[in-house]
Amino acid sequence: MEEMKTLGTFWLGGCSGCHMSFLDLDEQLVALNQRARVVASPFMDTRALPEHMDIALVEGAVSMDEHLVQLQRIRERSRILIAFGDCAVNGNVTAMRNCSNHKTSLLERFSTTPVAQQRSDHLPQVLERVVPLHTVVPVEYHLPGCPPDADLIWRVLDDLLDGRNPTFELEHRAND
Ligand code: SF4
Repeated sequence: MEEMKTLGTFWLGGCSGCHMSFLDLDEQLVALNQRARVVASPFMDTRALPEHMDIALVEGAVSMDEHLVQLQRIRERSRILIAFGDCAVNGNVTAMRNCSNHKTSLLERFSTTPVAQQRSDHLPQVLERVVPLHTVVPVEYHLPGCPPDADLIWRVLDDLLDGRNPTFELEHRAND
């Protein structure tokens, strides 16, 4: 019997709306559970990154230093990495701060607060610019939408779990 494919879902710099759309799969979550083993997800409070994932859905843009590390590790351990939603695809809402010169002043103001001073050793560093996933690591597919529609998420997962290339109108292979 063929081994079940494994799936991980992750969020970086996003609003979690893409994952809410994932939950909108509703009864298809049951079907998904019968065809794939979810090995990592914010919904599971996963402590350690799995050694291998067949499919990784990554929501959000890269906006903090810890996102760079996390994304590179996910890439190393994933066979198919999908930029999940517009923030992951092109920066979208998360990248709006790239148009502003307020970053430095906001960080300076925050760093003077008592909370920041107490926890400064633990605070992740904000990157100078927010960037989409494919500028950091190779990405197999872009799944567009803000958030992507649940039907679209299902069609992509259904194709991939059956070993087909996803075929949806807006789909394109990244990095071609
Ligand atoms: S694409 Fe839209 S829904 Fe998804 S994380 Fe970005 S802002 Fe939120």
